[in-house]
This record gives sequence, structure tokens and C-alpha cells, in this order.
Amino acid sequence: MPPTATCEDIKTYQDRVEKNEITPHGLPPCPICNAESRFFKIHAYRERWFLIIVEMIVDRVCCALVRFACPGCGKTVTFYPDFALPHKRYTRQSIMGFAGNYVADENATYEKAVMVEAEKATPGYCDGERSLAPSTVHRWVASLSRLKETTRTALDLIRQEDPDTNAFRVLAQPSIPPSKYRSELRKERLLDCFRLFVAEACFKVVFHLSIFTELARALGFT
Ligand SMILES: [Zn+2]
Repeated sequence: MPPTATCEDIKTYQDRVEKNEITPHGLPPCPICNAESRFFKIHAYRERWFLIIVEMIVDRVCCALVRFACPGCGKTVTFYPDFALPHKRYTRQSIMGFAGNYVADENATYEKAVMVEAEKATPGYCDGERSLAPSTVHRWVASLSRLKETTRTALDLIRQEDPDTNAFRVLAQPSIPPSKYRSELRKERLLDCFRLFVAEACFKVVFHLSIFTELARALGFT
């Protein structure tokens, strides 16, 4: 199975939007005036076409995202469901899955990372001409590497809950082969991405939750 949110996941969320069940409580305080998010009001609904992978074909599913406005200063913020990442059309499961193919395997290349191992193929678009591009996974690695605060907070929570966690032993020996980067900046991004994947794996073991279920949203995807 390729990593992807399913059509059902997205439709279930759309139902919750339509039933007015999405509340602003899990959002961080207003970045401008620091008002608590529980006072935010619904501002607008924005349609987004998400890309999911069904039987190795990239398909589109529409879903409304809720935008809330701060009553103090009018700043608006989007509430992202746990299958969504800001400014991304592929679902979080696909982004983590394919970026994970690259980060977890020392010998991986971006060309290899877009392959679904069990299918020995790359997900394609229904026009038959294009498929998930290696350069897309390259960009996803950069995007995920920016979630430093989420990673740091997740690791703190893991340490508090399970002082014997092996997360820090794994983190002490990151293995990023020099063939994977040509600049120090890219090396840093790969290391940050590696930390995020370790944090996500350990968070799931300790809390039985993804860091994307609540934590990343509460930290404004920083
Ligand atoms: Zn505000």
C-alpha cells in the first residue's frame, strides 16, 4: 500500500466541518496579539484539493479547511486536519512516507524514494504522462526539516514520559552519508528531518499518537 490518507479520512473530516465540529481550541495563541485561540471565531471556509494515491494513481479529493479569525486583531489562521500540512496538496501520510523512504535508508536516492516498494513502481497521475517526481520528495524533506519546535517539544515530552527511551541513543548516531548532500545547509536539513522521524516514531510508541494529531498544530507547524 502506498502511504496516503484515504478518501474516507478526508470525507469524514469534511462531515465534521459541515456539522460545525471543528473548534479553534487546539490552535496556538494569536501570533500578533497573543489572544487565546479559544476566543477565535470562524472566518471562512477554504476549499482545498488534496492529492491521494488510490491503486497507484494520484487522485484529487476536495475538502473544506476552516479559517479562524482572532477577535482582538483580525489575524486569520487555518485549522489543518491531521492529514494536512500547510501549503501542501499531498497528504501528510504521503509526505512522511516518501520523505521517510529517503531519510531512513542510507543508500536511498530521491529516484528510489518515490517508489512504492511493494508495487515496484512510482504513483502516477491519471494523464499517464507524469508521476510523483523525485524533486517533490526533495522539497518535502526541506519542509519537514522546518518543524524544529515540534520535534524538540515531542522529544521533551517523550523524555518526561519515558526516561529510558532509546530515542536519544538513536539521535546520538545520525547516519547521513556524504553522498546525500553537497552543502552544509542540506546536511542540516537532513539531520533535522532525521530527528523529526525519530521523534514521530518514538511519540507513537510512548503516546500512541502521531505528532501531527495535535502537537504540530498546537505549535503552529514550527
Ligand atoms: Zn490577535
